[in-house]
Amino acid sequence: MSWRVDNPSQAYNPDFMKRAVELSALSLDASSKRGPFGTVIAYNGEIVAEATNEVMKNNDPTCHGEINCIRKACEKLGTYDLTGAVLYTSSEPCPMCLSACVWANISKVYYANTAVQAGDIGFKDDHIYQWLKGDKSVLTLSLEHHPDENAEEVFEKYKKQGTIY
Ligand SMILES: [Zn+2]
Repeated sequence: MSWRVDNPSQAYNPDFMKRAVELSALSLDASSKRGPFGTVIAYNGEIVAEATNEVMKNNDPTCHGEINCIRKACEKLGTYDLTGAVLYTSSEPCPMCLSACVWANISKVYYANTAVQAGDIGFKDDHIYQWLKGDKSVLTLSLEHHPDENAEEVFEKYKKQGTIY
């Protein structure tokens, strides 16, 4: 039986945000090596995954709470497609995590603290958003386009044979 239903409840549930914030508070124990961010993913009225930021714990800069939670939910549900799921996070998703929500087909996100508030305690979220809006002075990052025939050929071949999700 599929875990998906036609009309999943995506209404805000304060208990789910409370749990996300509780998870973020685990970082207050410095020995946990967690960042101050907690996330839960709910589906059809139930929490199906919980996670925290574990960048320092795992030595992995992509281990944000939202990414970790998406990985756990996908593993639990046996799918890469979280259509209908709702993500609750203690702080506004950074652009990486926002993109991960899009790739996971999560269309509803609730957050507590803002990216500006995360910036105020030293995180780069708001700088990345500013960079994406065109202010290239806020980050030391440069992107250059170098077209490559072989790279284009892979895309052409994939388009003929592949299934795009
Ligand atoms: Zn993030």
